[in-house]
Amino acid sequence: MKVLVINCGSSSLKYQLIDSETEKALAVGLCERIGIDGRLNHTPAGQDKVVIEKDMPNHEVAIRMVLDALVDANHGVIGDLKEIDAVGHRLVHGGDKFTKSVIIDEEVIKGVEECNPLAPLHNPANLIGVRACQTIMPGVPNIAVFDTAFHQTMEPVAFMYGLPYEYYEKYKVRRYGFHGTSHSFVSKRGIEMLGLDPDNSKVIVCHLGNGSSVSAVQNGKVVDTSMGMTPMEGLVMGTRCGDMDPTIVEYLAHNLDVSLEEVMTILNKKSGVLGISGVSSDFRDLDAASNEGNERAKLAVEVFSYRTAKYIGAYIAAMNGVDAILFTAGLGENNIVVREQILERFGYMGITLDKEANQIRGEEKIISTPDSKVTVAVIPTNEELAIARETVELLE
Ligand code: ADP
Repeated sequence: MKVLVINCGSSSLKYQLIDSETEKALAVGLCERIGIDGRLNHTPAGQDKVVIEKDMPNHEVAIRMVLDALVDANHGVIGDLKEIDAVGHRLVHGGDKFTKSVIIDEEVIKGVEECNPLAPLHNPANLIGVRACQTIMPGVPNIAVFDTAFHQTMEPVAFMYGLPYEYYEKYKVRRYGFHGTSHSFVSKRGIEMLGLDPDNSKVIVCHLGNGSSVSAVQNGKVVDTSMGMTPMEGLVMGTRCGDMDPTIVEYLAHNLDVSLEEVMTILNKKSGVLGISGVSSDFRDLDAASNEGNERAKLAVEVFSYRTAKYIGAYIAAMNGVDAILFTAGLGENNIVVREQILERFGYMGITLDKEANQIRGEEKIISTPDSKVTVAVIPTNEELAIARETVELLE
């Protein structure tokens, strides 16, 4: 089967056309600046990127351009649009309604819309992508794969906040967790790669990227995860603050004399390692600045690693043990220093990093020593492939 995987944001749209037999992407691309002007970056496998600047007033036009690129005589990868068997959509928030991927129909769209208040920036944009595909490719099934679904196995003890219970009942205030597709993909691959018993395994997945989250996966099911009702909670991220004293919100609004919305923008977009360092949200810039002696950049990286280590420690307690710690996403796969800083805090527990083996980027590898009490590995994530697999599985 050929599956078009779509990740639709408010002004951007990422896509991959994946052949489910080879599990390879035939083409990958990105539409940027939808509704502003419009740019399509399209890369057929093994070829150079093609950039097409053309007005994209809305997502429907953007998707039409993607489809045109896929069948183009020069940079296309299929002969006819009929070769696309299904579209897999990344949907951000499925609330507690969606515990797994589903084939999209009107009922599902209604269900997703009911979750919109939980992700007002993401869900509506995701649905625009769904609607556009329904219009342009009638008869081609659309599948919803939710960021939150894999985490729905959490028990109330892990997902309840210490707030009046009625807010959970009335407004669904609880922990949901995100990056579920990645946590699912990486935990499954880790169990397979390390030969663990899927029904008797304790795995911690560290998805460390621009947005970062840690999850505790016991016997293949999430027991806890660091992101909360929204992706703000948990680790210190590229630009998000992660855990902090809620009083700070009121304190800042008062001292800066700004609205609650403005404080939330600060916490979302100007905080994290960007806020601490004043340099960048990108760890490549932070590493470069640290090497040049920038103390705040160095501190930002250390704060990030320290917080991540605290979550790993907490999840060892949550599962009463751990068999494997898995690193994934941009930083988890590529940042040698961060992995080292995190793991050096677990010497007491008999977890030992093989510093030589740790000198890798973007490849699947065990990075703990043979005598380490817990196996530590790097496992590249592939959320698009995971969405394509889910899509094929559902349709079969
Ligand atoms: P997003 O949450 O946007 O998907 P990513 O998973 O791509 O983020 O992670 C982005 C982070 O990963 C950045 O801080 C970047 O520095 C780091 N990163 C990504 N690729 C590399 C690389 N090849 N080498 C070093 N760091 C990398």
